[in-house]
Parts: sequence; structure tokens; C-alpha cells
Amino acid sequence: MPRTPILAANWKMHLTIAEAITLASDIATVAAPYADRETIIFAPFTHLPAVADVLGGKRTALGGQNLYFEKQGAFTGEISAPMLKDVGCQWALVGHSERRQYFGETNESCRKKIAAALSEGLKAMYCVGETLAEREAGLTETVVLQQLEGGLKGFSAMEFHSIAVAYEPVWAIGTGKNATPEDAQTVHQAIRTKLEQLTNEKIAQTTRILYGGSVKPDNIKALMAMPDIDGALVGGASLKKELFKPIIEF
Ligand code: PEP
Repeated sequence: MPRTPILAANWKMHLTIAEAITLASDIATVAAPYADRETIIFAPFTHLPAVADVLGGKRTALGGQNLYFEKQGAFTGEISAPMLKDVGCQWALVGHSERRQYFGETNESCRKKIAAALSEGLKAMYCVGETLAEREAGLTETVVLQQLEGGLKGFSAMEFHSIAVAYEPVWAIGTGKNATPEDAQTVHQAIRTKLEQLTNEKIAQTTRILYGGSVKPDNIKALMAMPDIDGALVGGASLKKELFKPIIEF
């Protein structure tokens, strides 16, 4: 079953607003002719309004890198799903490994955040991935499938239309090391089988599963050639037009 690929930029805590405007405009221009793929920019919160202006009416979508699961209230420093929606986001990134590692994100908080995003009409990209120690202990699939179940249990088939999964082995993020396409494919296939248990075969076959972890112009083609890899979530290489362009164009 054909799945429209997604090429997503995670800018993390980088760029000035002026730099973000220029880069967003460049990315939107590169992506414009490609009706057969989706591009998303996950920008820092402070940059969202400016980037939303640049992307307005263009094919490239906008997302927040995190959100809180309550709609509003006394939650100093947090940003809600309605706020992301209000500023022009279509997507929210949930459960990035840096949020799990440094900010105490759990599978359960991720599940609540995904529910909050969907209830506002946002799409959610849910990140899962094992650490190096877990991989070396042979626990990759155990960990990833637990994260998947914990974050995605209880959503309806309808809701799954608004969910994408990003498999990001923690040891490959920002390290220059990446999983071989075959290793990534093995985990993606296991994720798809798990999705089938959590939902049904049709949803499992249509859910996009992205790979993330040191994706670069020189490895994107081989990754995208794998049957269960439906796109890439890109950190470092999304911060430079000359690196992200060939990734979009893979
Ligand atoms: C990421 O932040 O999601 C990521 C995959 O980073 P990088 O591409 O730099 O490894």
C-alpha cells in the first residue's frame, strides 16, 4: 500500500528568528514541486509565528517540538495544543528522546500529549527508540514496542490517521552513526506488526514510520529504499539548506 513519504526537519534549540525565516523559505521552495511527499518543519516555539507566516499557503507544514497535555492553566513555561493550533501548526512532535532523557518524558505523558494534540485537530509524530545500552543488551524491540504500546494504546482507528511514528535509535542521534538501512528496516517492520496489534491491518499499512538518526544526503536514498521506511526525521542536516534539499529530493 503506497504511503506518502514525510521529510521532517527538527530544528531543536537552534537558529535565530531571522535565520529560521530564510531557511523555512528555502525549504518551502525546494518542497513546492513535490506533490508526492510531505515536508514538515518542527521549529522552536518562539519561531513558530514567523515561520507560520513564511509557510502560509505552501506545501510545507509546521509543527511544535513539544506540547503540554492540559489545554490551559497554571503551568508556567508550558505550551498547549490549542496554542500550537492558534499559531498555525498542523503537527506536534511527541516523545523525542532528548525530551525523554533530559525532561522526564514518559510513555504515559506522551500518550496524554498525543491525545491533547489530536483533540485539537493536530497530527502527532510519536518518537521511539532504544539507547546504546539497550541495543547492546539485545533489548531494541522490547524497548521500542513498549514505548509504542505505552504511547499509543487506546486510540481509535480514526485517530491513528493523524499519527505518525518516528523510530530514532538514541545512539544514532547527532552522533554521525546511523543504523544500517537493513537494521532500521527490521525495527520498522516490528513497529508495523505492533501497530497492527494496536489497531488493525489497514491502519498499520497506512501509518507512516519515519527513521531518524544522523540522516544525511548520502544515506537517505538507501533508507528510503526499505519497504517499511516512510520518511526521515532530520536534526543536524535540516539546519542547512544544502544538506536538507537533497534529503527532500531523495
Ligand atoms: C533528531 O533530532 O530527531 C535527529 C534525528 O537528529 P540528527 O539528524 O542530528 O541525528
